[in-house]
Amino acid sequence: MTDQTPDTVSVLNSDTPIMAFAQLQLAAPLARAVAEMGYETMTPIQAQAIPVVLQGRDVMGAAQTGTGKTAAFALPLMQRMLKHENASTSPARHPVRALVLLPTRELADQVAENIKLYGKYTHLRSAVVFGGMDMKPQTLELKKGVEVLVATPGRLLDHIEAKNCVLNQVEYVVLDEADRMLDIGFLPDLQRILSYLPKERTTLLFSATFSPEIKRLANSYLQDPVLVEVARSNATASTVEQHFYSVEGDDKRHALHQILKDRGLKQAFVFVNSKLGCARLARSLEHEGLKTTALHGDKSQDERLKALEAFKSGEVDLLVCTDVAARGLDIKDVPAVFNFDIPFHSEDYVHRIGRTGRAGAAGLAVTFVSKSDARLVADVERLLKIKIELEPVQFEEDLPDIRKQGHINDGRRLYQQDAGDTRREEFAARVPRAPRNDYRREPARSQDPFFSKPYESPVLPAGEVPSWEAAAVRPGARSISSNIKAKRKVAALFKSV
Ligand code: AMP
Repeated sequence: MTDQTPDTVSVLNSDTPIMAFAQLQLAAPLARAVAEMGYETMTPIQAQAIPVVLQGRDVMGAAQTGTGKTAAFALPLMQRMLKHENASTSPARHPVRALVLLPTRELADQVAENIKLYGKYTHLRSAVVFGGMDMKPQTLELKKGVEVLVATPGRLLDHIEAKNCVLNQVEYVVLDEADRMLDIGFLPDLQRILSYLPKERTTLLFSATFSPEIKRLANSYLQDPVLVEVARSNATASTVEQHFYSVEGDDKRHALHQILKDRGLKQAFVFVNSKLGCARLARSLEHEGLKTTALHGDKSQDERLKALEAFKSGEVDLLVCTDVAARGLDIKDVPAVFNFDIPFHSEDYVHRIGRTGRAGAAGLAVTFVSKSDARLVADVERLLKIKIELEPVQFEEDLPDIRKQGHINDGRRLYQQDAGDTRREEFAARVPRAPRNDYRREPARSQDPFFSKPYESPVLPAGEVPSWEAAAVRPGARSISSNIKAKRKVAALFKSV
């Protein structure tokens, strides 16, 4: 976009003076809702984007997640839509006027929740539609009429095809997390959706990075946009302390325990690269005494929302997740993010660590790097234009004896002595033993042969519960959190034997 129409783009920088919401002269119902949410001064993206959107200009926004970009687009759109506000019960009086498209269910849900709060004192109706849920309740809501529709592209197309919503009165479109939508392969869906919309409209595009594909998308669908950039694209927040530790295989779990303990961390996100790895790691950490929940693409929508709620309410300490599941989630005050696996795509590094250090708070980002990760580390260095120094982890001895429980990644190999042990012994000799910290409950001594006898499948008479599971449900015995799926009963597979 900037390549082809540079003279039509005003580049604003992040030196915009701090502005109070009061200076905006938002309509009373919106101002009241914003005040109730505790917003006093605008974040940089808000200070820059809100006035531009109020003027009716298209916007191409480069904003990190957690910068307040939902309010940056939602408040001015709602302010402009207030002229259509009415209390009529007729669906025809509430056509879709603003469409907000996002890549994932969680993000759509989160943005819709914020929009509901901003519109609390108006008659503007909002709704959210995303896949993985029954279409019927969504259809009923759409048929009643909504002015602001938040959606993921696939499910929106389902509703369009079922003629559950008409988009010929759309005046505003927001393509949020546009880079992620392209990564996921939503471009054809986006093109189809945009083809149903009136040409006369305001289009806002937000993306963490401005890749050539994003610029092409903007070129095709934005008119004379204002470029709003609050942080250098591909930049990480300066409030996040970043560490890269050299650590191999099962030592990663040990290192995670150690760092949580050393830092006195109560909660953290733990990112892994695969759904399978995510489920297995969550289960292992739970066995090792950490309250853990897993969030990955194979979880049902209901399970994902429950997992998020459990983390938000503090019921669990660790949210082990994959990139797709965690993109853009707004959970306040996540003190730390662990990259248990360094991401395959360096841009994901920026997104992952954007979960901590939000809204100026201090955050910690820890990445575990194994010997085979050299290329991925180099990718992050190139993207962030930094030189990464690998640090050793200082292990203590009084953490759960993880390594004797077997490898988490395949669950079959028995623990073997390797170079990592020698290093751990060296550190243990130097580092004095510290008293146990509160963050970690007494680790449950697992009776699960998954860890102690990984080669052997217990063959039990049909219906008999394996001893380790019986122990888990004994009164007083600690059971696995409801957020972690119980391990499949191996015995059930042998019923016919
Ligand atoms: P977002 O980037 O839109 O997901 O917003 C991140 C978080 O910051 C959300 O919890 C918002 O409610 C919050 N937030 C947004 N704008 C402001 C503001 N001006 N003052 C305080 N909090 C804000």
